[in-house]
Amino acid sequence: MSLEFVLATHNQHKVAEFQRIIGERMPQAVVVSYDGPEPVEDGVSFAANALIKARTAAAHTGRIALADDSGIVVDLLGEAPGILSARWAGHAAGDEANRMLLLDQLSDIARPNRGAEFRCTIALVVPESLIEGGSEFVAEGRWRGSLAYEPRGSHGFGYDPIFEPEGLEVTAAELLPEEKNARSHRALAFVELLPELERIASLVDAAGA
Ligand code: IMP
Repeated sequence: MSLEFVLATHNQHKVAEFQRIIGERMPQAVVVSYDGPEPVEDGVSFAANALIKARTAAAHTGRIALADDSGIVVDLLGEAPGILSARWAGHAAGDEANRMLLLDQLSDIARPNRGAEFRCTIALVVPESLIEGGSEFVAEGRWRGSLAYEPRGSHGFGYDPIFEPEGLEVTAAELLPEEKNARSHRALAFVELLPELERIASLVDAAGA
């Protein structure tokens, strides 16, 4: 059973993580990167934005499409930064400015109240040209932890240097890529998605597409 799909993300850090995560859990999959039009991500949830991206890629390529939308959610800030994670300090802000703003916002907060989690939603969209009626599926992964007081570590990206995963005394950026990919929100979402991807692969095989 083979499976080829397009991965609708331009974030090279995410692409690298997905390639490792998918390669380990579904070695027969062929992952093609997406370079078509970028949709406006105007959804109000991770799931809505992931679906917008995956639908655009499926419609544009005629292939099975996967897209993720992800971010960090801090307990004391409700659902924030959430879907605004990539631009928490403004549209032009980079990872470092986003991290520093979040650390400033929690500067007076004691360790027990610094709870946070990474969330990742992956949308799978199968176009009607591949299976009758098409198909959509959404999976979510959550990775609990807390915010550090200052950045540590050089691996990963985004908020990794200020996120201390539950049960560990290091930040996500101090984990090796394989250690992060064994437990991250992205890996957990992919594990939830896997049975559906395998079901779709056998349907597409059977349809001879
Ligand atoms: P998206 O590309 O709109 O999904 O934005 C996701 C943003 O959330 C990224 O720019 C990062 O700041 C943050 N983020 C998502 N996943 C991770 C992760 O695994 N580590 C660190 N930051 C992440």
